[in-house]
Amino acid sequence: LVRLENVNKRFGDLHVLKDINLTVDRGEVLVVIGPSGGGKSTLCRTINRLETIDSGTIVFDGKPLPSEGKALARLRSEVGMVFQSFNLFAHKTILENVTLGPIKVRKQSREAAEKRGMELLERVGIASQAHKYPAQLSGGQQQRTAIARALAMDPKMILFDEPTSALDPEMVQEVLDVMVELARDGMTMMVVTHEMGFARRAANRVVFMAGGQVVEENTPDEFFTNPRTDRAKDFLSKIL
Ligand code: ATP
Ligand code: MG
Repeated sequence: LVRLENVNKRFGDLHVLKDINLTVDRGEVLVVIGPSGGGKSTLCRTINRLETIDSGTIVFDGKPLPSEGKALARLRSEVGMVFQSFNLFAHKTILENVTLGPIKVRKQSREAAEKRGMELLERVGIASQAHKYPAQLSGGQQQRTAIARALAMDPKMILFDEPTSALDPEMVQEVLDVMVELARDGMTMMVVTHEMGFARRAANRVVFMAGGQVVEENTPDEFFTNPRTDRAKDFLSKIL
């Protein structure tokens, strides 16, 4: 579904992505792990073109990433993104947060968007919170709203950038459970996370990124029990 070839990205003198070659197949769950500053968020952001790249190519669904106009808007709706900070609209209800995109971007009727929105809130287990505002929900519920909002656009892929790292520990699991369900349903996902349990349950592949490079690509089992590179070993010894 996505292919990156020799992708390079610099912020001024800082070379943040160095010759990245990576694919994500349809229905695949790719977990990206690695130390802070390694380029994980930047990698995510290049795929829905929140960041431009300096060289290389990114092909999504058979076509090079569009740079502007309607094609870019379509790409953004086809590649959902869930951030560490939930980024919900504070002055809109949970249901409004979920239906806004379908109504504005997809031109769905309010009725159709709300019907689907309620189904999605049901699916992530927060239908009873539909008419509350984000601040009235727990972090885990807010993040599940963000996932429902992404799903409402019928994306071909969802990028998750450390979706549980801002959550209180007791709420991490409820969000991971929703993500595992999504993975089982065949959603294509790229997930930046250090949650080893999630990687083991849901990932097809793990990519270890450090210093702007893909240092190791492995199966989750191999990666966590028997990493090939010293850098990955060193990193794992610090987080596990
Ligand atoms: P973390 O685990 O802390 O989230 P990361 O692996 O996601 O780290 P990135 O956020 O991709 O890393 O950042 C990679 C490098 O690029 C860092 O050194 C960061 O400071 C730098 N960087 C990221 N965004 C920008 C920007 N907009 N302008 C300048 N430098 C940036
Ligand atoms: Mg990051």
